[in-house]
Parts: sequence; structure tokens; C-alpha cells
Amino acid sequence: MRYLVLSDIHANLTAFHAVLSDADARRLHPDDLWCLGDVVGYGPDPNECVERLLSLPCYTCLAGNHDWAVLDKLNVETFNDSAMAAILWTRTQLTPDNLRFLDAQPSRKEIDGCLLVHGSPRHDIWEYISDTEIAADNFPLLTQPVCLVGHTHVPMIYVEDARTRAVRAVHPEHDVPLTLKRTNRYIINPGSVGQPRDGDPRAAYGLYDTDTAQWTTYRVPYNVRETQMRMHAAGLPPKLALRLEYGR
Ligand code: ZN
Repeated sequence: MRYLVLSDIHANLTAFHAVLSDADARRLHPDDLWCLGDVVGYGPDPNECVERLLSLPCYTCLAGNHDWAVLDKLNVETFNDSAMAAILWTRTQLTPDNLRFLDAQPSRKEIDGCLLVHGSPRHDIWEYISDTEIAADNFPLLTQPVCLVGHTHVPMIYVEDARTRAVRAVHPEHDVPLTLKRTNRYIINPGSVGQPRDGDPRAAYGLYDTDTAQWTTYRVPYNVRETQMRMHAAGLPPKLALRLEYGR
């Protein structure tokens, strides 16, 4: 099976469209799409992103911390000022149906040898796997050989060696498939569709092919200016719009 894996769309419809078109243009032909949470928050198109997801022939979606904050399942005060402003704005925008959709998404799923969570196996929603030490703490909690996470907005692969249990980080090369060893275990982050933070403003996503055990990270440019203009029109914090240009 081939899975299109994406995360942290963050209400950026232009970036989401670019990813879906790029996957089509590359003829990736996924059997399913896995979205690892944070469909909304930060960006100007919360309803449109939920509805685009719903319009796909198949998808699996998880809850993220911004989704939960919008639903008041997490305390919005724990977010920084601009993130909080965007969450409060998003609450005023989402239709009751789309709020119900977000509310119905689980915080973890196990499918086809993969554990899917937004944050980490230790704390589904909230923990950032941002270095090898945190990854090493989480490997013992893996219930499947491969764990797919989002939340940091940085594409990354952590590998646990089957023999030594040593954990190392591999920065994925874009467009280059990495064959996963069946004996090792992996924590893989596809990066963010709508708000990349690795210094590359292009939207990020991945493809996992369970038949060939290959993971590929892809990047696709999108019209950042278009998203920024809608953010300004919505009155969202200017610094959230600006950071899209830098991928930070
Ligand atoms: Zn996020």
C-alpha cells in the first residue's frame, strides 16, 4: 500500500492544493492519505482545508494541538500570543459541521505497521520530537515498527538500530527514497504543509510505500503571497504571515 503522509496543514489552502497537485503530477497514486493533525490554526482557510480533506476519496486524520485548542480541549493560554490570536479567530470561523469533524478525530491510530500520532508516542498531542534524545525516550513506547509524527514542522527521520538500540537522526534528502530496514525501527516526520519551519518555505509531505518499505520526502513551492494576502485580509497577526516567507 502507498500512503501519502502529511501534517500541519494549518489552514493554508494554497499550500494544501499545491501538495495534492504535486502528488498527482508525480503520479504517486496513493491508496490512502494520512493527515497527522493540525488541519487548522495559524492560517486563513480553516473551513476550506477541512472541506478539501473531506472531499478526498479516502483519508485518515488525527487531532493536533491547534485543533484541540480551537475545540477548547486544550487551554489556549498555553500558546504564544500570535498562535492564541489565530486560534481565537479560527473559533469564530469554523462551521458547526467542521468543528464536529475536528472533534471526531482521534489522537492516535495504528494502521498497516505504523503508529500515527501528532506529537509523540509518549504524549500524542503535545510532545515535540525535536532531537535524538527525545526520540530515544519515545522508541520504547512504539507499538509498531514505524511511527509517523508531525508537530515540529521539520521533516526528519529517527532510526533506532536493531542491534545496539542506538538512535540517530537522518535529515531526509528531498525526492530521494530511503529504504527502511525491516529490523530497525523508525520515527518519521513528513514536515509541514502549511507552515514549514526548517528554513525552506516550500510545503512538505511524504510518501510511504509499505510494499517496498520506502519513505520519500517531497517539497513543493506554492504561492506564499496569496496565503499572506488572505491572512492580512482576515486580520491575523502579521508575523504569522511573514514567517511563511522564510519557512521559520
Ligand atoms: Zn502544527
